[in-house]
Amino acid sequence: MELKFAGAARMVTGSSHLLTLDDGFRILFDCGLAQGKGKHIWDLNNSWYFDPKTVDVTILSHAHIDHSGRIPQLVKKGFKGQIHSTHATRSLCTIMLLDSAKIQERDVEWYNKKLRKKRKKKSKDFRQALYSSEDVAPAMNLFVGHSYEKWFSIREGIDVLFRDQGHILGSASVTVRIKKGRSYKYIGFTGDIGRPNRPILRDPVKMPPVDYLICESTYGDREHLTPPQQSETFLSIVNEACIEKKGKLIIPAFSIGRTQEIVYMLDKLESAGLLPKIPVYVDSPLAVNATNIYGTHPECYDDELHQYLLQDPDPFGFNSLTYIKDVNQSKALNSSKKPCIIISSSGMMNAGRVRHHLFNNVSNPKNTFLIVGYCSPDTPGGMLKKGIEEIKLLGEIKQVRATIKTMDSFSAHADRKEMKKFISNQKKKVKKIFLVHGELDSQESFKKYLEKAGHKKVIIPSLGQELTIK
Ligand SMILES: [Zn+2]
Repeated sequence: MELKFAGAARMVTGSSHLLTLDDGFRILFDCGLAQGKGKHIWDLNNSWYFDPKTVDVTILSHAHIDHSGRIPQLVKKGFKGQIHSTHATRSLCTIMLLDSAKIQERDVEWYNKKLRKKRKKKSKDFRQALYSSEDVAPAMNLFVGHSYEKWFSIREGIDVLFRDQGHILGSASVTVRIKKGRSYKYIGFTGDIGRPNRPILRDPVKMPPVDYLICESTYGDREHLTPPQQSETFLSIVNEACIEKKGKLIIPAFSIGRTQEIVYMLDKLESAGLLPKIPVYVDSPLAVNATNIYGTHPECYDDELHQYLLQDPDPFGFNSLTYIKDVNQSKALNSSKKPCIIISSSGMMNAGRVRHHLFNNVSNPKNTFLIVGYCSPDTPGGMLKKGIEEIKLLGEIKQVRATIKTMDSFSAHADRKEMKKFISNQKKKVKKIFLVHGELDSQESFKKYLEKAGHKKVIIPSLGQELTIK
């Protein structure tokens, strides 16, 4: 068999790994978009390390765009097989891939408009969207949804198991069992490893012992701080920002996962009578749609949320909460002077409606911005985290006078200790562990860390590398 690392090799984006069996049958694990700006990323998303027509089956670990975002393009380029995922991943993909198509269309339009203004433009320099909204439905038609913990067959002698990964709704690890004569070979793919004791989702469940493991390594070089009474810290920030300072509390958050965690936390505080009586807004059309999907997949909830449902049938809704889709309603928030909480995407404040909330509110010392996720240093979120005094937004320089707070306890990715624990049963049987989905520094550090813990044969494949496995 051959295993080819066609994405997320020595980098954290564009997850894609191709397994070719001895008889030529090809299984693709994930088909993710490389995210970021620049020509390098554009080139990555416009090339393939395999011919999409030759792939027989795709298996998707979870809905995040860096794992699923090239699926419509794969189908457009001739893939005709089935796409297997959990039921919840399929549901999330229906909205996320459409959203991704719209972003591609908008980005290309903006790029070509800029190019038209240049003198030395050549027609070959104009870009075409990787795929459009019309390409999403044909891709969704190929999806087949599955439950956790149920082996299903993708071909005679080849079975697949999805096991709960606790990363986002529907996230799963993938185990493939291949019949070889009288025995079986097991190939495992961790997907993104989630964290124990997070709200809404169940804890990650260890995979069965496998012969070869493709393992993520995003936080291979660090350990997260333990969340010190997350909801108490959050409540004190709400009180300070909205009651004492009588300002707006603006929380940039990813539409999928992070927004629902925060809403659920607010819902619990409200039920306990602890949340002050101030309006709360979720201002992001994608987050509104995603929250509806969270509501329809209780099979993914942890015990705590099932218990909570007995006293509150809607864990993502309470009286003072308003979901905003309409752009005029979103704009109306700018002129309101009343204290409120606004949760809006994107998490790094480099896209989406939160950019307008940032523009309109960052120079007022009454307001507070609470950053709850990772922000690359070159994004507005990253710059504010660093403490800059002025920032260029929508072509204008703005003074930063609002209070900037951060809470780092929300990460959906396991740290190195949690990852080590997750794969602690992969020692006896395993022949090789391939580290993917991590920056090289982090991967080298994680490799040493795993070797110290008794894991042997840890390999860091490069992009496009193909290795023979037996
Ligand atoms: Zn993910």
